[in-house]
Amino acid sequence: MTRAIQVTKTGDDVQVVLRTDVNDDELGSATADDASSSAEDVVVDIEYSGVNYKDGLALAGGAGVMRISPLIPGIDLVGTVADSNSPDWSIGDSVILNGWGIGETHNGGLAERARVRSEWLILRPDAISPRQAAAIGTAGFTAALAVRALERAGLTPDAGEVLVTGASGGVGSIAIALLAKAGFRVIASTGRATHRDYLLGLGAAGTIDRTDLEAAGRPLQKQRWAGVIDSVGGHTLANVLAQTRWGGAVASCGLVGSSDLPTTVMPFILRGVSLLGINSVECPLPEREAAWGRLEHSLDRDLLDSLTTSVSLEGAIGAGAAILRGELRGRTVVDVRL
Ligand code: NDP
Repeated sequence: MTRAIQVTKTGDDVQVVLRTDVNDDELGSATADDASSSAEDVVVDIEYSGVNYKDGLALAGGAGVMRISPLIPGIDLVGTVADSNSPDWSIGDSVILNGWGIGETHNGGLAERARVRSEWLILRPDAISPRQAAAIGTAGFTAALAVRALERAGLTPDAGEVLVTGASGGVGSIAIALLAKAGFRVIASTGRATHRDYLLGLGAAGTIDRTDLEAAGRPLQKQRWAGVIDSVGGHTLANVLAQTRWGGAVASCGLVGSSDLPTTVMPFILRGVSLLGINSVECPLPEREAAWGRLEHSLDRDLLDSLTTSVSLEGAIGAGAAILRGELRGRTVVDVRL
């Protein structure tokens, strides 16, 4: 028997419980198409999961994330292979899984066990502990994807300041740390002035108040940013596009403010600005491994530990509600054995 958080939706009613009696055959996919043992060919004993914004949405029964009911949420897991029908994985391998629909269309990481597809797993780098791998999680992996996308678009530290919005959150915090380590001058946009010292500690050179970016603005504004990593969307994304310098690039990761993009083509056709879409869920394996390689070599692990908070499996329920209220800072790891 396995312990797991389970969300069940009946009409508008959402029930979230910590179950202690989940059978192995309830893990993995709930759909007949995917549930064949040949598709989900690896069982993982989970050590850690995490609380991403998406996990908060799933725990609240959000229709965009919770695609099956009942659902074990958790878009991340870190653990040890307990059983494998795949030639690629052996019992005892230490593995990481981010995205691929777990915690959305497939039962996910907020459990002591998961049954998953072998091709979704990557090997945990030796230098990163299981808890640190969960602290990085989808948020940190996405931050690495965004930094790599900006660099592929030609961004270099001498090009000018780089803005990170949603700065105190998971994606934002790790993006700041990675950019600062690479020599960029990073400005953090935050709604919480009390987090200024925290953001400077991650490597930001300065902060701005996120309300400066929240109102509707002109399609072209004073040029300031050489690059931007945005977790907010809406008017914030429109304004940062309008403030991006000639030839600069903006990586769009999230929508904590809004999924709208009320902009014009002006930044693109008059300033050659690029808008780069970041999708971690179906990111192909080579880019996944390259991003994790960047995290292994460039993310200061003491800094990572300092931005990480731990909760128990049951504690993930409260943490999920808190992340939707914008109250968490950095990354929250779930020790599923607690
Ligand atoms: P967090 O909640 O940890 O971070 C979001 C941060 O944004 C908050 O800490 C807060 O920072 C700020 N914020 C919160 N609410 C608002 C608001 N209403 N308006 C403006 N700013 C706000 O979430 P994550 O870092 O886990 O995820 C961030 C976004 O990225 C989410 O939308 C998530 O779905 C998306 N995402 C997308 C991925 C992809 O593959 N594209 C993968 C991972 C995440 P502060 O207090 O400093 O302002």
